[in-house]
Amino acid sequence: MRYKIYTENPQSHVLTIEMVVENIAADRIKIQIPAWRPGRYELQNFAKNIQHFEVVDEHQQPVAFHKVNKDRWKVYTKGLSQLTVRLQYYAYIKQANGVFANAGSSYVDEQTLYLNFVNCLPYVSGRMNEPHEVQLDLPANYQVACGLPYVNGSVVAEDYYQLIDAPLLASPYLQQQSYEVQGVSFYVWFLGDYQPNWEKLLPDFQRFSEKQIQVMDGFPEKEYHFINWILPMPFYHGVEHRNSTMIVLGPDAEGDGLYTDLLGVSSHELYHAWNICKIRPVEMMPYDLTKENYFYTGFVAEGVTTYLGDVFLKQAGVFDLQAYLQEFETTLKRHFEQDGLSKMSLLEASFDLWLDGYVPPVPHRRVSIYNKGAVVAFILDTLIRQKSQHQCSIHDVMRLMYERFGKTGIGYSLEDYIAVAEEVYGDSLETYVSTCLAGNTPLETQVKELLAWYGIDFAWQPNTSLHFALLDAQNQNLIEWLG
Ligand SMILES: [Zn+2]
Repeated sequence: MRYKIYTENPQSHVLTIEMVVENIAADRIKIQIPAWRPGRYELQNFAKNIQHFEVVDEHQQPVAFHKVNKDRWKVYTKGLSQLTVRLQYYAYIKQANGVFANAGSSYVDEQTLYLNFVNCLPYVSGRMNEPHEVQLDLPANYQVACGLPYVNGSVVAEDYYQLIDAPLLASPYLQQQSYEVQGVSFYVWFLGDYQPNWEKLLPDFQRFSEKQIQVMDGFPEKEYHFINWILPMPFYHGVEHRNSTMIVLGPDAEGDGLYTDLLGVSSHELYHAWNICKIRPVEMMPYDLTKENYFYTGFVAEGVTTYLGDVFLKQAGVFDLQAYLQEFETTLKRHFEQDGLSKMSLLEASFDLWLDGYVPPVPHRRVSIYNKGAVVAFILDTLIRQKSQHQCSIHDVMRLMYERFGKTGIGYSLEDYIAVAEEVYGDSLETYVSTCLAGNTPLETQVKELLAWYGIDFAWQPNTSLHFALLDAQNQNLIEWLG
């Protein structure tokens, strides 16, 4: 499949997209635009951004088609071996605060081309596994940040799935530096009115990348790109991809606060390179981009990643103890203060991501797979550490998950995750599963007891503020846990 993307008027934020389909052998083909994108498990129906859709043959003559549903077109191809699908895509989103793009959208103006191909590139049903090439008409002074190589004006992917897992940010104003860990090249890109302190940033990034690779026993990719777009308005959004992450943060004037956010989101997204990009729920093998892909393990994908993203920053020496505990306190606060009375279990919340996972829920209904997921990951980590006297931890669970379900590309089920956790724990985790995952009883007492083991007092009553008190910074369990 060959695509061409260009804009006749960047100020209009409209992209023209042409897809040339060759070697047509059937009387009909189906053209589809994704209804959602990996990383956010809700229908976004990108087809609603298409202003105009047409199909022409080699002589630019119209080819008959009709729309089968909201984002699928049936094209009548009898006697044709080649055709071109042409569409106009409105690459701009309207959000509060004047924010015009997020980490999963597309955008164009006079000095920026930002593409999440999953938004705007149609595919031919049944031919997603063929190589896909995108030709971009970029001015000579543009630089390109992308997980796929940009060569001679084109990006080439081995299949559609690889293509849509590689967001692209192009502009004459990109800044970039790189570092290396165990033969893997890491590139850090910035766009925006922001001057990174590279002398601090590069060693910090190197430390948490090294720690993650060491704990997970190798990295799945040959290179990795942190693609950051810093906006003048408050914003916080990151999306994980195979060998890159797209991050949109703001405000650019925030200084240290912005840098702490950058570290947090970067460590989180890098861990996703294992946890969900490789260690993927079996229900999404492969992704079905036409409809909901229900799964019960959103709490593994996001909860474990939220918990470990920050833990890695401490274990790598990027955060000090106070900085880490502040982040963890915030996670607990969010869970207990916002979701403490919710009726839903974590498994139900994972399944219902597609319903209201990313919008404000009605009161006392939903729990956050991020926050409660992180709390139960902490509980599992601590149960394993207590029983094994720190010989094992949640790291062993995730490393085994990578070994068995990630490297093999077979995907995992809820039962697989529980079985691996029990194997590492060395006993049944029935009570953990029934209370923390399948139940909705409050977890304060358990969290308080476990934190006490690390020498941390945890005080919270409904309607009062939650806070930690570090009773003993030399507590041996605390040192074993956070390094
Ligand atoms: Zn995440």
